[in-house]
Amino acid sequence: MSKILKVKARQVFDSRGNPTVEAEVFIKNNSAKAICPSGASTGTYEAFEKRDKKNNRYLGKSVLSAVNLVNSKISKRLKGHNIHNQERIDTLMINLDGTKQKKKLGANTILAVSMAVKKLSAKQKKLPLYKTFLVKNNFKLPYPLMNIINGGVHADNNLRIQEFMIRPDRAKTFSDAMRICFLVIKNLSKIIKNKGLSISVGDEGGFAPMISSNNQALDLIVSAIKKSGFVNGKDVSICLDVAANELFKKNKYSIHSKKYVSVEKSIREYKKIIRKYNIKSIEDPFAENDWTSWSKLMKSINKVQVVGDDLYVTNLERLKKGFLNESSNAILIKLNQIGTVSETLDVIKFAQIIGFETIISHRSGDSEDTFIADLAVGTNSNQIKTGSLARSERVAKYNQLIRIEEELGKKSRMNKIH
Ligand code: PGA
Ligand code: ZN
Repeated sequence: MSKILKVKARQVFDSRGNPTVEAEVFIKNNSAKAICPSGASTGTYEAFEKRDKKNNRYLGKSVLSAVNLVNSKISKRLKGHNIHNQERIDTLMINLDGTKQKKKLGANTILAVSMAVKKLSAKQKKLPLYKTFLVKNNFKLPYPLMNIINGGVHADNNLRIQEFMIRPDRAKTFSDAMRICFLVIKNLSKIIKNKGLSISVGDEGGFAPMISSNNQALDLIVSAIKKSGFVNGKDVSICLDVAANELFKKNKYSIHSKKYVSVEKSIREYKKIIRKYNIKSIEDPFAENDWTSWSKLMKSINKVQVVGDDLYVTNLERLKKGFLNESSNAILIKLNQIGTVSETLDVIKFAQIIGFETIISHRSGDSEDTFIADLAVGTNSNQIKTGSLARSERVAKYNQLIRIEEELGKKSRMNKIH
């Protein structure tokens, strides 16, 4: 009953209009499908994304060879295996690939199948997906980290910092968290418009006005929080993703202005904006190989969440290194950075053992797939980062969390922000 009959893939499109892999797993009388997301500000150590670089029909972006691999090699290898044994299935694909960064089959190829197997296992057990990960009871809802102003490589403006986010820290329920973000976003829209700037949005649904200074973006958000009747740093906190890989040259950084300056100066500037704007979380403040600058920052600030995204790339070995170096106190989790559900869960488990916050994340190229909403609840992750309240691929995850909260009913609780 639970044995895989076949796996089938197809090329579909992501939110940026780029081709991506959808995989569908079949057992007798049942099937499930999943779509792989795709990043733009990717870390060097991420698992490999397979694209047909030489096929000009899709400008080198198609995933037809990945689709073929699923339909041939992977389908053949997984046939007859039990969908409820996720680790076994993931290991079979990891071994079939045989390389460290999944260079042969591609992490996008493998992950689409891995997620589809997980979904099918839940479906077959007649369980909601969130109940099939690590948590068995007392499910908690994550706080949304809503990316409301987009910069960096996700927008066409000149903002250095990639993501300006809000987190509704005092929300008592997930629906209330949504209401708070909704109000701040609507007010931000008015404020931006009144300044004669555009309210068009970037890749992750946040506004992408033509401004160039970080402080200008932060001032707009502070005004929106205030106008909504909330207190910045208490009801709503500002969180950043610097994505500093993109702002690094010859040991210097151009985070706070176009000028490249030393790590020491960058840290001084970080401290200034943390104090001025009550910033509670900073992701990728320095580049992916610059372990010592991360530790320096950690030593010079406190009560700020420091999140490793490109630094860790959801990779256990890199997380261990960051733990030993005291580089951060939180990790961003992206399934396609590592390429299987099992490996992702191993990283989350380890992160939680060492006391790191786990933040489940979308990619800038995403889809209608809401897997990560369930993953956040099912792994006791206290935050989810999945864009703004715009663009259906982002909103779909928030809507799924609203459904989960409703299903949990009176038992539903928000997770804790530490
Ligand atoms: P990406 O960006 O999906 O383009 O890599 C998201 C992030 O940096 O968190
Ligand atoms: Zn990031």
